[in-house]
Amino acid sequence: MARIFSGIQPSGELHLGNWLGAVQNWVNLQQSYDCLFCVVDLHAITGQYEHESLAQRTRDMAIGLLACGVDPSRAVLFVQSHVPAHSELQWLLNSITPLGELERMTQFKDKAQRFESVPVGLLNYPVLMAADILLYRAELVPVGEDQTQHLELAREVARRWNSEFGGGSDFFPEPRPILTEAKRIMGLDGQAKMSKSLGNTIGLLDSPEEIWRKLRPAVTDPARVTRKDPGNPEICNIYYLHKYFSPSETVLRVADHCRGAKWGCLDCKRELADNMIRTLAPIRERALALQHQPGRVEEILGDGAATARRLAAETMRTVRERMGFLTSAD
Ligand code: ATP
Ligand code: MG
Repeated sequence: MARIFSGIQPSGELHLGNWLGAVQNWVNLQQSYDCLFCVVDLHAITGQYEHESLAQRTRDMAIGLLACGVDPSRAVLFVQSHVPAHSELQWLLNSITPLGELERMTQFKDKAQRFESVPVGLLNYPVLMAADILLYRAELVPVGEDQTQHLELAREVARRWNSEFGGGSDFFPEPRPILTEAKRIMGLDGQAKMSKSLGNTIGLLDSPEEIWRKLRPAVTDPARVTRKDPGNPEICNIYYLHKYFSPSETVLRVADHCRGAKWGCLDCKRELADNMIRTLAPIRERALALQHQPGRVEEILGDGAATARRLAAETMRTVRERMGFLTSAD
């Protein structure tokens, strides 16, 4: 059974983009692959972050994933910092990663603009991501489109390591992405991809009132200034989202009403909100129930970390040996 690794940062709320772009896929893939899913808290400190709430956000993200249907009896769910080998392997991989490759990463260039003084961690983020995947020798990585460039780097790092230290064998498989159809969900601002750190999200666990409060002012086709102006659904993010939450007859009607100026954007949004609220209700209920079972969540993450540490230790034994380190006596 091929192995899958994927991660999500506890950098904010689990949102529609994460769900449609990655997490829904995780839930499907766990049926037929050997899956490890990780709340990547070490990645979440590469931006400005609140350390007071990191632990809570990490727990909440795990709860969100469980509520979406990640099943601990089928997949290993754990927290990255509970497995120190992620950091160790990253350090080792740093030594074979070219600086130029890191500097040209689109996400680095985007996120670096938010800093006066750019932390090295932000630059090295893709090396940690390569370590996350290679540590488990995963072959497939279900992610959104924004991560494909990082994954290409992970492939290159795997290739380099294999050629320098693999001794003729491909110890590390070159990981390949698995994309969903919704590989890039735009944010409610219509400007950038939906992103935890940009505040342009709808949270998967938002209340019906919050969903409506956020959808109401969301950007639509700018040509529709008044209700009488016909619109182009193909450039409207609200129409795009209807495709994931509304029945196909509704999607057709939405396009027709938009093109023919038969209703206002607010009507269109109200219908989307209703369908979204209905779709997300079971996830929200499961999350609320899990929030009252902190012992259960702790146990799941404890078991997941124990399994992950065991798998990681096997990889690290070979990596240390092939890279020439003196074996420890204990
Ligand atoms: P941050 O803004 O802190 O980077 P994020 O919202 O981008 O947070 P990540 O934790 O970086 O979320 O990514 C988790 C997963 O969700 C990744 O597989 C990523 O590709 C996917 N993803 C993130 N945003 C989107 C989006 N807008 N559309 C589709 N997939 C997405
Ligand atoms: Mg991201």
